[in-house]
Amino acid sequence: MKDKIIEHAKTNYSSSPHEFTDEEIETIIKVDCKCESCDKSIFELHDFPKVINGEVLCEDCYEDEYIDRCLLCEESYERLDDEDSDFPKSPFYLSIPSAEEQDMKPGIYVAISYPVFRSDMFSTTIYKENIKLICEADDFLEKYPEYKEVFEEEGGNFICLECLIKAKKCGTN
Ligand SMILES: [Zn+2]
Ligand SMILES: [Zn+2]
Repeated sequence: MKDKIIEHAKTNYSSSPHEFTDEEIETIIKVDCKCESCDKSIFELHDFPKVINGEVLCEDCYEDEYIDRCLLCEESYERLDDEDSDFPKSPFYLSIPSAEEQDMKPGIYVAISYPVFRSDMFSTTIYKENIKLICEADDFLEKYPEYKEVFEEEGGNFICLECLIKAKKCGTN
């Protein structure tokens, strides 16, 4: 089986030939050479599966599970699996109209405790005592005016690490 996997990886994936590590191959064999989420055989995939945290996932399932799209810069990013952090998805932005609704300052926030949000069908509650403002929208937009539209529309959502770093650079807090 090992040889079959190696041979398949060498010749059958469209993006590039791929070499799995021995550990990855072991994991793949252990899960019967299938994506653990959708059951597709790795021999049917056009791209090599991801072996992550002892799990085997096809490209699509991997993206569903681990890739987010930053609504600020519109780049996709790998969701952080930061074991030291209880709030791996914590940085988020809050737009100007939405901040007004919540009686908060628009800007970029991080979580300092939990929970951060609670949503039901009608509204979202933000736990203000659990978050910290990194950068006010005005300061952020002064330096990055290209994000003005996002801040003017209703909304708030998680952002990528790059955007958080930008926010920290122009933040006053
Ligand atoms: Zn899958
Ligand atoms: Zn971003």
